[in-house]
Amino acid sequence: MSENKEKSKAKLLQEKLCSERKNAALKMSKDDEWKCDDFCSGYKKFLDAAKTEREAVEYAVEAAKKAGFIPFEKNMDLKPGDKVYRVNREKAVILAVIGSSPIEEGVHIAAAHIDSPRLDLKQHPLYESEELAYFKTHYYGGIKKYQWAAIPLSLHGVIVRADGSKVKVSVGEDECDPVFCVTDLLPHLAQEQMKRTASEIIKGEELNILIGSRPFKDDEVSERVKLGIMEILNEKYGITEDDFISAELEAVPAFKARDIGFDRGLIGAYGHDDRVCAYTAFEALLDIKEIPAKTAVTVLTDKEETGSDGNTGLKSAYLKFFIADLAQCLGSDCRTVLSSSECLSADVNAAFDPTFPDVVEKRNAAFVNYGVVVTKFTGSRGKSGTSDASAEFVGRVRMLMDKNGIFWQTGELGKVDLGGGGTVAAYIANLNVDTIDVGVPVLCMHAPYEIVAKADVYMTYKAFHAFLS
Ligand code: MN
Ligand code: MN
Repeated sequence: MSENKEKSKAKLLQEKLCSERKNAALKMSKDDEWKCDDFCSGYKKFLDAAKTEREAVEYAVEAAKKAGFIPFEKNMDLKPGDKVYRVNREKAVILAVIGSSPIEEGVHIAAAHIDSPRLDLKQHPLYESEELAYFKTHYYGGIKKYQWAAIPLSLHGVIVRADGSKVKVSVGEDECDPVFCVTDLLPHLAQEQMKRTASEIIKGEELNILIGSRPFKDDEVSERVKLGIMEILNEKYGITEDDFISAELEAVPAFKARDIGFDRGLIGAYGHDDRVCAYTAFEALLDIKEIPAKTAVTVLTDKEETGSDGNTGLKSAYLKFFIADLAQCLGSDCRTVLSSSECLSADVNAAFDPTFPDVVEKRNAAFVNYGVVVTKFTGSRGKSGTSDASAEFVGRVRMLMDKNGIFWQTGELGKVDLGGGGTVAAYIANLNVDTIDVGVPVLCMHAPYEIVAKADVYMTYKAFHAFLS
């Protein structure tokens, strides 16, 4: 008896003093479960509708307009509750809801990226070989190249014609559309190929997309399959071969987002990284019910997967310029506003994969279904290239989560010496903004088909909503 009593005292003390990690799906109420599944049906529709940065911007602008957002203009009259947006070159967008407190007290920013790893077409993509037509590609972002062979691909983007007019392309998403494919070698003849290292099983110059096979019926010319393809493209898009030079065409997996598992707890899709944080951060802004104290800003940016360089990535000044223009409208200046602002860098983290346990340190890894992940720092080895959030800011984020009943966890991307990765956090922190990474844990990150848990998606939405509201 006394031993039992002693144990229970220890248990009580343990509960009080020691941290315990718990499956969020276990703790969710019935009501939360229902809301979670409903939210995720909307997310799946977004995944299928917006597979590229341009399509994500289009989707966001359309939804924002319906929610009463108007284009932001310099020196416009703004008052608390006003909703504005500014698009950057059709590939990034900033949206804001003006808060009630003075702008010099800072803004709350949620920043996610809407570009995902993919195969870009080269500027001279089209060729014929042995009476088959192909597109040459140049992969974008960090991929395991072999994963991109022998899967159905769709093609998205824009072509600017010689006269400067622009035509949109989206082929392979509709059930009636054709799809495209990078071919791979049959195992029977792959003995030599299988001796290559995994990074070269399919080489960059072997990521050639098969796009046609029917020759143009004429004996006079050579490359008749290519001619047949050009005839189709000319009819459909009014283009000639030279127009590919001024095109941005992206081949992405043609898969639709689907539930995974008998219990439907997970979602499989292309490009959860980082459209899962883009959607949650965007919806959180749209769902702001009352005028927020701090002005709420959601940034959906481009080029994160290639290092955030270029005028549509977050190393560009476009966010700073927006804040400067916003500050001016409200009678303040950019440096004052940024210096007192806070940012959730909304990006995914690696989820612990029981099949590959050795790459992470389990005590500090993120788990599927354990809720939204807060990542204090990213970078690699000795925290190289990181923005390490201060204990004070982590403390504020922690209180925000707990106060709003959000299930959350911390997570580090893999073992210390192993690898690592970065997000846009460092570039926003460099503007003198308190910044921390917050997002969804993902299985098979950067594969053509990535996996997230619905509970984590919903908790991430709730986290952004609490932060922005
Ligand atoms: Mn990402
Ligand atoms: Mn990524």
